Amino acid sequence: MPIYEYICDDCKVHFEKIVINKQQEIACPKCFSKRATIQLSVFATSGSNSGSSTSSGGFSGGGGGCCGGGCGCH
Ligand SMILES: [Zn+2]
Repeated sequence: MPIYEYICDDCKVHFEKIVINKQQEIACPKCFSKRATIQLSVFATSGSNSGSSTSSGGFSGGGGGCCGGGCGCH
């Protein structure tokens, strides 16, 4: 089941929701607004990868100009 990330249009809170049917209603868990913007391609971001790649690679990568492992080009 895909998990999508949303940002509430009203209170700007960030939340995730498992979407079974794209026509299903989504509601903000904080203010219960039904207006939220879906965040696409969130899995391509290096939020959790950057910490581990820099610690393991060190300076041997020459600056890591390629992708740092985040783009899956290897
Ligand atoms: Zn909200």
